[in-house]
Amino acid sequence: MFRSLHMKLMLIMTLLIISLMTVVGAFLVNSVAGFYLEQFYSRMQGVFQNDPEFYHDLCNAAPEEDSGVQQIDQMLRARTGDLGVDGITRNFYVLDGATGAYLAGTNDTEGVALELTHNLSVALTGEVGDDSDPTLSYMDVAIPITRGGRDYVVYIKDSKQAVQSLTGQLVTLILEALAFGIVISVLLSFLLSKTLITPIERLTEGAEEVAAGDFSHKIEVDSKDEIGVLTSTFNDMARQLQSTLQEVENERNKLGTLFLHMTDGVVAFSREGAIIQSNPAAEEMLGRALPIGGEVGYEALFGDIAPLEKALEPGALGFLAGSRELGGRSLELLLAPFDRDHQAGVLVVIHDVTERNKTEEMRKEFVANVSHELRTPLTNIHSYAETLVDSAGSLPPDMEKSFLNVILSESERMAHIVQDLLTLSRFDSGRSELNLAPFSFAEAIETMVNANRLEAQRHGHTITTELEPGLPQIMGDRERLTQVMMNVVSNSIKYTPDGGAIRVSAGRMKDKKVWLEVSDNGIGIPKADQHRIFERFYRVDKARSRESGGTGLGLSIAKEIIDQHQGSIFIVDKPQPGLTIRVELPMEGPKHGAA
Ligand code: ADP
Repeated sequence: MFRSLHMKLMLIMTLLIISLMTVVGAFLVNSVAGFYLEQFYSRMQGVFQNDPEFYHDLCNAAPEEDSGVQQIDQMLRARTGDLGVDGITRNFYVLDGATGAYLAGTNDTEGVALELTHNLSVALTGEVGDDSDPTLSYMDVAIPITRGGRDYVVYIKDSKQAVQSLTGQLVTLILEALAFGIVISVLLSFLLSKTLITPIERLTEGAEEVAAGDFSHKIEVDSKDEIGVLTSTFNDMARQLQSTLQEVENERNKLGTLFLHMTDGVVAFSREGAIIQSNPAAEEMLGRALPIGGEVGYEALFGDIAPLEKALEPGALGFLAGSRELGGRSLELLLAPFDRDHQAGVLVVIHDVTERNKTEEMRKEFVANVSHELRTPLTNIHSYAETLVDSAGSLPPDMEKSFLNVILSESERMAHIVQDLLTLSRFDSGRSELNLAPFSFAEAIETMVNANRLEAQRHGHTITTELEPGLPQIMGDRERLTQVMMNVVSNSIKYTPDGGAIRVSAGRMKDKKVWLEVSDNGIGIPKADQHRIFERFYRVDKARSRESGGTGLGLSIAKEIIDQHQGSIFIVDKPQPGLTIRVELPMEGPKHGAA
C-alpha cells in the first residue's frame, strides 16, 4: 500500500507534522507550567521577601494584641491581590507552627484536611519551604513566622487548576492544529506528487517504451529543475541510442546484403558444428541446401578437410586451406575460427576457382601454342638457311631460289602470326578502339566478295552473292568488319575442295539488325568441334590449316570484332556437307558505353 511514492510522501509529511506538533505541544505545556510556577514564587517573594515592612508587621505583634492568628489572617487577607489568592484555586492558611494544625485561612474545609507536603514539613522545622516539584498537581510555599512568642506557619497552596485548564486548552489547540496540518499535508502531498511524481511517472513510461524498442515517443519537458534536466537528458539518450541502433542496423543490412550477394560462398558453424549461417553462393557451390541448425553439420560437409577441433584451433596461420572438386567445379576452401579466444565457431569460405583454373589452363595452352606455332616456321627457316650455308653455292640456282622462297614465306607466316597475336592482345587490353562510321552494308559485301573472286577462281570455286534488295547503311568499323568477312570467306575457299560452291547472302532482320551468311560445300566441321572454332589457335585439321597459311587465330579475331560491335557470329546448324557461318550486327552500331 505504501509502495507508491505518493503514499510514502503523504506518510512522511503526516509523521513530520505529528512529531512537530508533539514536540511543540510538549514544549508549550512545559513552558506554561514552568511559567506559572515561576510566577507563583515571584509573587510570594514580592510579598514576603521584597516587602520587609509587611514581613516585619507579620512577625511583630502590638503589646495589647491578644489574638495573633486573626491579625495574621487579616494582614494576609489585605494582601490577597498581591498573593494572587482567589479562595478557589489558590488559598492561604495560617497553621500552628508546632503541630501544623489549621488555625485560619481562606478555605476552612481544605485547611482542616491539609496534607503534610514537603514544603510544609520543612516550615514546621522553622525553615522556609519554597521548593515545589513541577510534576506535582499543586504548588505551595510555607513560611514559618513567630508572633507574640508563638510559632505559626503561613502556608499558601495553589491547586494548579488554572494551569491545567490552560494546558488543556493548549492541547486542544494543538490537536486541532494537528488535524489541520494533516489535511494540509495530504493536500501538499497531492500537489507535490503532481509536480514531482507525475514527471517521474512520465519518465518511467518513456523508459518502458524505449526498453520495448519504441524510440519515437519524446517525453515533454515542462520544468527546468533536476527532473526537467533528467527528462531532457533521457530524451537525448534515447535519440542517441536510436541513431546508434540505426547505424548498427544499417551496418548489419550492408553486411547482410554483402553476405547474400557475394560471389564467394560462406558457411558459419557453431563450436558444436551446427550450421548457424550460410549464403546462397555456398548452397549453389556445394549443390545442396544448408538449413540453419539442420541435420547436416560441419563433419558431414568439411570433416574430410579437417576435424572440427583442428579447425577451431588452426595454429599460427589462423586458417586451414583445402580444395575440392564438385560437380565439375574446382573449389578452394578456407577454414578459420571466428572469435578465436572464445572458440565461438568456424567460418568456411568457399571460393570457386574453376574459371581461374580454366584461364590458367588456357594461358598455358596459349603459350604452348604460340611457342609451337612460331617454332615450326623458325625450324624451317633454320634448316633451309643452314642447308644454303653448308652447300656454299653448290646447289643448283633453281633449288637455291626455292629454298629462299621457303625462308621468305615462313618468315611472312611468322610475321602474320605475330601480327594476329598483337591484334588479339590489343583487344584483350581494351586498347583497340573501333573507328565507327556509317557505310553501305551491301557495297562492303560486294567489294569483299570481288576481292576474293580471283582466289576462288584459282581453286575453281563458284562464288555467288544473294543480297536482299534495299540493304541499309550500317554503323560500324568498315575495315574491321571487312576483315571478318574476308576471314570467313577465305576460310570457305581454303576448306572447300577445288570446284566448290560458295554462297554469300545477306539481309535485314526485324529488330534493326542485318545478317550475313557465308556457306560452302566443303569439308565442314564435325559437330564435336563446332563450339571450339572461335578459340585461339583451335584448328580442326592442323596440318591442313598450316598448309593453307592459317594461323588458327582468324575466327577468334573475328569474334572479338563482332563482340565489339555487339553482334554475334556462330555456325548455323545445317546438315553437312559444308559449313555456314552467320554474322548478325545491329544496324545502329554498338550502343554507347557498351562497346
Ligand atoms: P585458320 O587460320 O586456321 O583458318 P581460323 O580461326 O580462321 O584459323 O579457323 C579455325 C579453324 O576452323 C580452321 O583451322 C578450320 O579447321 C576450321 N574452319 C574454319 N572455317 C571452315 C570452313 N569453312 N570449313 C571447314 N572448316 C573450317
